[in-house]
Amino acid sequence: MGTIRHHNVVITCNDYAEDKILLTHRKATELFGDLVSPIVITETNGYFSFFIATDGSKKNWGESDKGILKRKELCDFIDSFADDDSNPVRYVDVAYGDDDDGYHTAYIGRTNPSIKYKQTLYCNKCKLLLLDKKLKSCPACNSLDLDDRVVEVDGLPRE
Ligand SMILES: [Zn+2]
Repeated sequence: MGTIRHHNVVITCNDYAEDKILLTHRKATELFGDLVSPIVITETNGYFSFFIATDGSKKNWGESDKGILKRKELCDFIDSFADDDSNPVRYVDVAYGDDDDGYHTAYIGRTNPSIKYKQTLYCNKCKLLLLDKKLKSCPACNSLDLDDRVVEVDGLPRE
């Protein structure tokens, strides 16, 4: 008997981003077919939610490996909606079942990346931290020698 670990992905979206939840639901249906629930809407504040049920496969089987790739594709798709500060579409891939010794376990497979950290640029010439990661050159010294740098949001001056 293989180890059974159920992965269920739960997705919730703010009411102002209906277009994004519809795109996400379409993408999920392309990937997971009948495992995708309909979208339900909360009475309070109009949150949209749906979930993707476990595919029932056992860990390390071919189907399970395919599931990993499909969940990755969906989560990457949702992450692409994020701007610098947040993402209106939130998700959690929650896994539960048995560990290799047969004990019941539960853990989070993946969720939205932390917004505590922010991608920035660093000017190697004048040592400035540039908050606009889309800059092609340093606005202070025009240097093109910029490196990616990830900083804690709380460590930055507010814009
Ligand atoms: Zn510079």
